[in-house]
Amino acid sequence: MALGNLYIISAPSGAGKSSLISALLEQDNEGKMMVSVSHTTRSPRPGETEGVHYYFVSQTEFEQLIEQNLFLEYAKVFGGNYYGTSLPAIEKNLAQGIDVFLDIDWQGAQQIRAKLPSVKSIFILPPSLAELEKRLIGRGQDSAAVIAERMSKAVDEMSHYDEYDYVIVNDDFAQALADLRHILRAERLTTDYQRTQNAVLINQLLAK
Ligand code: 5GP
Repeated sequence: MALGNLYIISAPSGAGKSSLISALLEQDNEGKMMVSVSHTTRSPRPGETEGVHYYFVSQTEFEQLIEQNLFLEYAKVFGGNYYGTSLPAIEKNLAQGIDVFLDIDWQGAQQIRAKLPSVKSIFILPPSLAELEKRLIGRGQDSAAVIAERMSKAVDEMSHYDEYDYVIVNDDFAQALADLRHILRAERLTTDYQRTQNAVLINQLLAK
């Protein structure tokens, strides 16, 4: 069996990244995809569950985990909070042929590319700045000051789009989801992947 593929998905907040990942996983009838659950020092938002959305830890606990080398990558992302991806669960799932998605920022993406060059990365862009702001306001989660901060962080995040292998513009949600699915399908058709996935067939076909 071939290993699962590891994907990084990054986007400014409000571009629709979480909704796209959720929709993708809902359509995964074979249980062949999962999203890695990160650790963070930020507080849970209403509706967020420990171990589902994040592992919520204190700054001291996070720093202990850094010292124990738990993280494949970590960064201070928003509001001075730490966010980090732990390695063990990812390795276990990839070994079982499951595709793993990392919903992380550009700093984490850079660290992982340096360690695992075979990782595939996807950047989600909004159709315009006006639409991004409209979506952030529409979520009703943040004050005007936080929205202004998120907009400035968004431009910062988007300036890294060309470090990624793929770019999807999330204007029409159904189209963006289809684009994402096409990327995953194409990645399962690469020669490297098929060499392992179809090893038995290939051996038979090439046997003299
Ligand atoms: P939020 O606080 O809105 O859940 O996430 C803020 C940002 O942190 C998002 O852009 C998200 O992709 C990023 N993020 C979440 N988990 C991680 C992680 O483990 N590592 C890094 N580098 N970024 C993360």
